[in-house]
Amino acid sequence: MKPYVFIAKPIPPEVEQMIGEHCRYDIWKEDTISKEELYEKMKDAEGLLTSGTAIDSDLLDHAPKLKVVSNNSVGYDNFNKEMKKRGVVGTHTPYTLDDTVADLAFSLILSSARRVAELDRFVRAGKWGTVEEESLFGMDVHHQTLGIIGMGRIGEQAAKRAKFGFDMDVLYYNRSRKPDAEKVLGVTYADLDTLLKTSDFVLLITPLTDETYHMMGEREFRLMKDTAFFVNISRGKTVDEKALIRALQEGWIKGAGLDVFEKEPVSEDNPLLQLENVTLLPHIGSATAKIRLNMFSQAAQNMIDAVYGRTPKNLTKEFQ
Ligand code: NAP
Repeated sequence: MKPYVFIAKPIPPEVEQMIGEHCRYDIWKEDTISKEELYEKMKDAEGLLTSGTAIDSDLLDHAPKLKVVSNNSVGYDNFNKEMKKRGVVGTHTPYTLDDTVADLAFSLILSSARRVAELDRFVRAGKWGTVEEESLFGMDVHHQTLGIIGMGRIGEQAAKRAKFGFDMDVLYYNRSRKPDAEKVLGVTYADLDTLLKTSDFVLLITPLTDETYHMMGEREFRLMKDTAFFVNISRGKTVDEKALIRALQEGWIKGAGLDVFEKEPVSEDNPLLQLENVTLLPHIGSATAKIRLNMFSQAAQNMIDAVYGRTPKNLTKEFQ
């Protein structure tokens, strides 16, 4: 009999068909699933395709046959050490989305500096002004200094755009030095404080881990130049959002661009919604039709391989 798997979110029909050729499956076609419903679906599941579902002991207790959790994302901060103890492997979707997420990073850099979203609201409100008016001025991106925190797959693609597209100087801070990136991309390693003090744009793109939780807080925002911009495309919890809000309100930094938030969806009373000097996006880093299809296909293949006892191509470092 084919193995049974649970798909915890809507997926493209062609990927559903691909899974169906190899597995019996059930699929949840709504945005969210309650714990009770998920536990029920997991009773016999050998594979779970998801993104963001917290894989905690409770869930694992309800999934005694589970062999693999296949994330439809490159980040896997929803995985838990308990998986390893129970022999459940975790897979993700690296590489496919690097260029797309790096493009989005640049959208936020450009939008923040040239006030694209803010001035779009301005025009829609029936206002205009003249190009001589300082009130419409933004900041240059080209020939400025970009500091990248997390020089991984996506960080390198962002560095390439900065260096070769915008003639920027690129500093990076990472756990380990990246000699190849230094040679090929011409990026320069800096300790975190130097990067924060020197950069005109700070781009955060590390995974969310115990180490990176709130790695940008009051101390770090106060180190940045008051003319600098902060862009977060990693995970919301890498930033102490209260400190960021103060930094934006009190002018410790000039502005920000955010794709991710401590609490998603963002609450209606989040002060960020009232600030003009921040561009906000609903966590769409990898959201283009082509890349989403690639990611779902990759996640499906990882799950199928694991339930058939083959080694999936994209096992995560920590959960294999
Ligand atoms: P990656 O290739 O694993 O790169 C992560 C980089 O962060 C690595 O170079 C790593 O350094 C560095 N790092 C880890 N912990 C650090 C720390 N404590 N201090 C400094 N640097 C640290 O991952 P990726 O594919 O670039 O993706 C990065 C993250 O982006 C994902 O985990 C995900 O959370 C997020 N993401 C968001 C979106 C979105 O929609 N907004 C889309 C895709 C990804 P070492 O090499 O030394 O470990």
